[in-house]
Amino acid sequence: MNFRKTQWCDENQTILHCPVCQFEYVHLMKITPVQSEDRLGVVLEFECEEGHQFSSLLHNHKGYMVSEITNE
Ligand SMILES: [Zn+2]
Repeated sequence: MNFRKTQWCDENQTILHCPVCQFEYVHLMKITPVQSEDRLGVVLEFECEEGHQFSSLLHNHKGYMVSEITNE
């Protein structure tokens, strides 16, 4: 996970950084719902201002809400 708090965030906010270059200027590009037989989730696709593309899959696993970030 590459969530870091910055000085101007309160305890309920986090800033998503690029997993490749750690740049904090990141744009949400696309949202895609995903569903299997027993799971529901969403893929959030991002691009940092240095041009790196990465995504976050949010889904439930054994009661936990899991966030997986990939840059593949
Ligand atoms: Zn980047």
